[in-house]
Amino acid sequence: MTSTETTPTATVPQRVTPELIDRLTARVRASGDAHLGRARTPFTLIEVYTGAAYGTLPQSRPEDVADAFATARAAQRTWAATPLKERLAVFARAHELILTERATIADLIQIGCGKARRMAFEESCDVPMIISHYLKTARRILKPRKHGGPVPLLSASIEEHRPKGVVGVIAPWNFPFALALSDAVAALIAGNAVVLKPDNKTALCALFGVELLHRAGLPEGLFEVVCGEGPDIGGDLVDNSDFVMFTGSTATGRLIGERAGRNLIGCSLELGGKNPLIVLDDADLDAVIPGAVFATFANSGQACMHIERIYVHDRLYDEFLRRFVDAAADLGAKAGASYDYIPEFGSLISPEHLARVSAHVEEARAAGATVHTGGRARPDIGPAFYEPTVLTDVPPQVAHATAETFGPVVTVYRVGSEQEAIDRANATDYGLNASVWSSDRGRALRVARRLEAGNININDGFVTSYSAKATPSGGVKQSGIGARHGDQGLLKYTDTINVGVLKSQVITARAQMAYDKQITSTLATLRIMRRTRLR
Ligand code: NAD
Repeated sequence: MTSTETTPTATVPQRVTPELIDRLTARVRASGDAHLGRARTPFTLIEVYTGAAYGTLPQSRPEDVADAFATARAAQRTWAATPLKERLAVFARAHELILTERATIADLIQIGCGKARRMAFEESCDVPMIISHYLKTARRILKPRKHGGPVPLLSASIEEHRPKGVVGVIAPWNFPFALALSDAVAALIAGNAVVLKPDNKTALCALFGVELLHRAGLPEGLFEVVCGEGPDIGGDLVDNSDFVMFTGSTATGRLIGERAGRNLIGCSLELGGKNPLIVLDDADLDAVIPGAVFATFANSGQACMHIERIYVHDRLYDEFLRRFVDAAADLGAKAGASYDYIPEFGSLISPEHLARVSAHVEEARAAGATVHTGGRARPDIGPAFYEPTVLTDVPPQVAHATAETFGPVVTVYRVGSEQEAIDRANATDYGLNASVWSSDRGRALRVARRLEAGNININDGFVTSYSAKATPSGGVKQSGIGARHGDQGLLKYTDTINVGVLKSQVITARAQMAYDKQITSTLATLRIMRRTRLR
C-alpha cells in the first residue's frame, strides 16, 4: 500500500492463524473462573492498521503474578546450578530460531504497533545481536575474579557474581519484541528466571519470542509472562521481584523506582527523552539530511532515542530547512499500512496516541509555530497515521518545546554558534540521546564531551550507539538509572559477593596479639600495602 490517496484494506497476515493466537495467549498466567466473575475481563487485541479486533488477551490478577513468581523461583534454582556453557547453548539455538521465524515475528510486531516492516525486521534483529554479544563475553564477565587482599601476598579476595533470583521485566509497546526479550535474555544468561509484563497492545510478539526460547530448550517455568494494565499488576510484579528491569516513560519509571526503593531491591530504569541533534557549520548536508530524517521519523517518531529538537548553525540553516522539509514530505508520501517492505513510514500505536501527538502540534501552531510539512492525521491510510511534521518558531511555553511528544514531530532551531547549540541542547531535564554532525570528527567529539546525554552519536542519529552491544547504553538526568548492554548489562542482574581469604590460619592467630604490637604491625602493613602492586 504505497498510495496516500486510497483507503487501505490491511488484514492480519496468513501466518498469524487463530491457532497461533490461542497458543500464545495460553502462555499468559491468568487464572480465575469467568463464571464466578473472578477472572479479569480479557483485553481486546486491535490490528493497528484497521482498528479491527483480532483476538483477546487474558489478564492476570495479583494471585497470578504471585504464582508466576513461585514457578519461576523454583525453576531458577536448577537453572542457576546449570553450567554457563549449557545455558549459553540454549541461546545459540534461539539465535537461529529467531532468524528463521523473522517473518512471523515481524507480522506480530506490525499487527500490535503498526510500524513499517523494515522497522519491525530491524527490531527483531536486536535480540540475536544481544545473544551474539553475550555468547562471546558472558564467560569472561561472569567468571569469579581474584584480587589482592589486605595483607599483601598472604591474603586474597574473590569477587563472585551470583544471579539475583527472579527478575521482573516491564516492557513498553514501541519496540515490543526487542525490549521484552533482549533485557530478559541477559537476565536469563546471568542465571536468573524472568517474569515479564509486556504492554497489552503488543504482547503477542513478546509471547512468540518466549515460545521460541522454549523451543530452543529453555526450561519451562523459567520465563513466565503476566499481562495486565500497569496500575493493575505492576505493583505486584515489583513486590515479587528481586530486581526490576523497566523500560517506559519517566512518569512510570518514577513509580517503579519508588516501589523498588521501598523494597530495597535494585532496578534499571530506561526512560524517555527529548533528544537534540546538532548540525555544526561544517557539516555535509548530503549526509545530514537522510540521517536527520531517519533519526527523527524512524518508527514514526516512537523511539526513545529519536530526535525532537534540531539545532542548525546559521550558515546552513536555510538550506537545511528547505531540504529537510522536502525529505520529510517525501517520507510522508511513502506511508502505508501493509505487511510488506513497500511502505517506508508506518502508523502510530493508536488513535489515543495520535490525539496526544496532534494536541502537541495544535498547541504549538496556535501559539505561533510554523508547520512546514505534516501536521495532520491520515485517516485515509489508517486510524492512527500521522504525517512526518516539521516545525519552527515553537515558543518555549508549549508542551512540544520541552516534553516528549513521542511522535513524528520535530522542531528546527537556528543557532549562531557551537556554544549556543550545546547550551540549548543541554537545556532539558532529559538526557537520553544526542546527535552531532560535522565534517571534523575531532571537533564533533569535543562537542559530544560537553553534551549531557547517556548516548551520543556522531554523524548518526541513534543506531550506532544503541547497536554497539559491548558498550553500556542508558540515560542520564531524568532519562533513567542504570544501563543495558556491555558488562554492566549482565552484571546488574547479579549480586556481587566478596569472599575474603586468608591463606593461612596462622595469620588469624597472630592478629590476636597485644594491642600496642597490633598498632605497630598495622602501620607496617599499611606502608607495605602502599608500595605493593595490586594483584
Ligand atoms: P509507559 O510508562 O506508559 O508503559 C511502559 C510499561 O509500563 C507498560 O508495560 C505499562 O503497562 C507499564 N506500566 C504502566 N503503569 C505502570 C505502573 N504503575 N506500574 C508498573 N507498570 C506500569 O510507557 P509507554 O507509553 O508504553 O512507552 C513509551 C515511553 O517509553 C516513552 O517515554 C519512551 O521514551 C520510553 N522508552 C524508553 C526507552 C529507553 O530505552 N530509554 C525505550 C523505549 C521506550
